Amino acid sequence: MSVLTAFRDSERARSIIERIHRRNTGDISIMEFCGGHTVAIFRSGIRSVMPESVRMLSGPGCPVCVTSNADLDRAVALAKTPGVTITTYGDMLKVPGSRESLMQVRAQGYPVEIVYSTLDALKLAEEQPDREIVFFAIGFETTAPAAAAAVLQARKRGLKNFSICSVMKLTIPGARALLAMGEVKVDGVIGPGHVSSIIGSDAWRFLPEEHGIPVAISGFEPLDLLAATDAIMEMHEQRRPALVNTYSRVVRPEGNRKAWGAVEEVFTLDEAGWRGFGIIPESGLVLREEFADFDADRRFDITVEDSEEHPACRCGEVLRGVITPHECKVFGTACTPESPLGPCMVSSEGSCAAYYHYQRQLA
Ligand code: SF4
Ligand code: SF4
Repeated sequence: MSVLTAFRDSERARSIIERIHRRNTGDISIMEFCGGHTVAIFRSGIRSVMPESVRMLSGPGCPVCVTSNADLDRAVALAKTPGVTITTYGDMLKVPGSRESLMQVRAQGYPVEIVYSTLDALKLAEEQPDREIVFFAIGFETTAPAAAAAVLQARKRGLKNFSICSVMKLTIPGARALLAMGEVKVDGVIGPGHVSSIIGSDAWRFLPEEHGIPVAISGFEPLDLLAATDAIMEMHEQRRPALVNTYSRVVRPEGNRKAWGAVEEVFTLDEAGWRGFGIIPESGLVLREEFADFDADRRFDITVEDSEEHPACRCGEVLRGVITPHECKVFGTACTPESPLGPCMVSSEGSCAAYYHYQRQLA
């Protein structure tokens, strides 16, 4: 049996599901803070096999979705700056900003390029020395090491036409902000797998220790997610909140110090504006003074008009777990993946897109 098959083994899954059904937890709300988990939970049908007493909530775990309109508008303004080519991940293009998306800007003839990695952006900078290549860096702790590596490489190669517009964010301050708002009841948290592989499982100890909330770090296979859910339910049942790492084949308590070391070398913390949350202190990664030459915000003097949200879009509430996508009036009608009004319907890790693709019949 291959490792992957082992994590999809239906016999093992059935026995965990049966145990979950036998558990005596009463009503319990479990939140995942990771867009990858949101999609994996839907795709594997885990929601549909849970007892009615278990409520699965999606939190602010999609980096595309939490990017604010103000930051999107900044990317649009950069794209319209003479001599600048803006590069970013594909999901970002369709997200509507206050007035237009990067896709619409590209259709007007401005250079917007999709890249699959920061190294693609670097390559473009080497191939086009007469243009300024700006990488619009979205993401959480998972993507930050690659952005840091790109900056370090650019410096090493002496590239003068590469810079980063960083809107990268940290999940822990985001999770803390959500809990501080107190709008949703969270009885347990499925901890993000990729993020934790970088920052370490220990980073989540604050949940049981400060909030009495059990947390289980999970991988992305059905058995990973079931095991994490079961572990949370067991801790809840026994009233012993703790940190459990069900993804120890990838995640270490201390994380990947080398990768995070590169992030700390290049970036420092600053406040960041999150969609649905507003400004969260020390939740954003910005380039350190020593790397100012690679900071698009310092290199280009752009003017951005006041940002605004689409009046019908409730992505902010979806991201805070306050409503489910079905509760947004335009879900599946005025807002679809082909014609999205908000990022949660665009991103491959967005909650609205996941509901749309996997659970439309419940709308
Ligand atoms: S990058 Fe990985 S950990 Fe972060 S939200 Fe996406 S799937 Fe989850
Ligand atoms: S359905 Fe569309 S408009 Fe409504 S919350 Fe989701 S993405 Fe935003």
